[in-house]
Amino acid sequence: MKKLIAFDLDNTLAESKSPIPDVMSNGLRRLLEKYDVCIISGGSFVQFEKQVISRLDVSVELLAKLHIMPTCGTRYYRFDVIDKYWRMIYHNDLTIDQKQRIRKAIEDGAKQLGLWEENPYGDIIEDRESQMTYSALGQDIGEQLGEEGIKRKYEWDPSKKKRNMLRDLIAPMLDDVEVRVGGITSLDVTLPGVDKAYGITKLIEELGISKEEILFVGDMLQEDGNDYPVKAMGVATIEVRNYNDTPFVIEGILGVTT
Ligand SMILES: [Mg+2]
Repeated sequence: MKKLIAFDLDNTLAESKSPIPDVMSNGLRRLLEKYDVCIISGGSFVQFEKQVISRLDVSVELLAKLHIMPTCGTRYYRFDVIDKYWRMIYHNDLTIDQKQRIRKAIEDGAKQLGLWEENPYGDIIEDRESQMTYSALGQDIGEQLGEEGIKRKYEWDPSKKKRNMLRDLIAPMLDDVEVRVGGITSLDVTLPGVDKAYGITKLIEELGISKEEILFVGDMLQEDGNDYPVKAMGVATIEVRNYNDTPFVIEGILGVTT
């Protein structure tokens, strides 16, 4: 019996860095009437607000069943029904020294490899407190250029070659943190052992549920994908090709819900 349905965000609930469509907002509301729902992503809480929370039309009682895990669950937020705000339950952040070293390694490494974009859309390196993220074309390209920006992102490194090169160059210089290929143009640097399995494990501890009670939906469940660690820890998963598949998954879950 599943108690909690967990979703990846980018490409699973919405196009990368874009708001969730109405069909998803409705689907999430109907799911919240029956289940707890967790959304876990490498993105920051602000990104969750823009993409998901601002698009949800649900009662505060249902909001309280939503579990928001930015930056792979190094931060965990729940809605406080009494004071009506998103309360941070815990955070696990990088130190100032770590952040400075990460920033320098990324910038020097990207310049050395010719991957440092001279005219980025927004910051190339984003400080998400518990995670530093390199976004090759600038983190706001999708917002600023719309579909054209998303197209450029997909075209930038389809084989992951550029991101793998940069990771292989800087990872040895940063031995107290972990460097991983993130979304379509990004590298994520976190404390060691922080991936989506870390977040789901923390959630299990916080809620006192078992992994058998969770169903996870994501678009990157292949072995090198950023959703794979959840599958590897033995949680039941459903893979979607992209967010267009997800409403059907939600209908399927609701269809078998008693
Ligand atoms: Mg994804």
